[in-house]
Amino acid sequence: MAPELAERWHGIPRQEIPWFPTVAAQACIGCELCYVTCGRGVYEIRDRKALATQPYACMVGCTTCARVCPTEAIHFPDREVVRRVEREHKILQVVREEARTKRGKQEAQKARAAAEEALSRLTCRTRLEIAGTFGDKHFLLQLQGLIADHPVDLVDLELHVPTVKGLQEKTPAFMRFDVVSTGQADIQAFLPLLRDLARRNGFVLVNEVKL
Ligand code: SF4
Ligand code: SF4
Repeated sequence: MAPELAERWHGIPRQEIPWFPTVAAQACIGCELCYVTCGRGVYEIRDRKALATQPYACMVGCTTCARVCPTEAIHFPDREVVRRVEREHKILQVVREEARTKRGKQEAQKARAAAEEALSRLTCRTRLEIAGTFGDKHFLLQLQGLIADHPVDLVDLELHVPTVKGLQEKTPAFMRFDVVSTGQADIQAFLPLLRDLARRNGFVLVNEVKL
């Protein structure tokens, strides 16, 4: 039981509100249903009897454990106790303010979730793998020219050449690189330009993965 749970109820010191369960020991059969049901740690079971050892941890107005008790061994004060506290402390005004704060937090959480969702839809890094005959096409220079006017870069570029002599004799080679945004922006509009450049050079796009 976290102590802060029991400290205040809508700003009112919790110990000023006489709302808690009382167990009639002779009626309790020690079934432990109240102990398991209460999520606020109000009960302990001792000698097969329920005891409300943390009475002020009880949620003001809650009677759940009394309702589930099979022998009706649990009792609460009259509800008028709660209503009187509500009246005396003008609780509805406090609750309205708390509701406003809660709504504000929920809206902020929703806005944050929406922003994160939108961000997750952005493609900021994509790995491309292409294969074909590189020969003397000066493909790297073509790539440099293509990215020069765009807010993207190509990183971790690898060129796998099985044989340098073979390269001149049109032996296929393999190139892999990651396209990244240099401004944390979506690169989707740029990718078709790359695919088109690869196609025009007679390469096959082996793989394209959003990272
Ligand atoms: S639910 Fe009722 S009978 Fe069961 S342990 Fe609690 S007080 Fe006793
Ligand atoms: S009334 Fe609710 S909060 Fe209070 S002891 Fe029972 S189950 Fe726990």
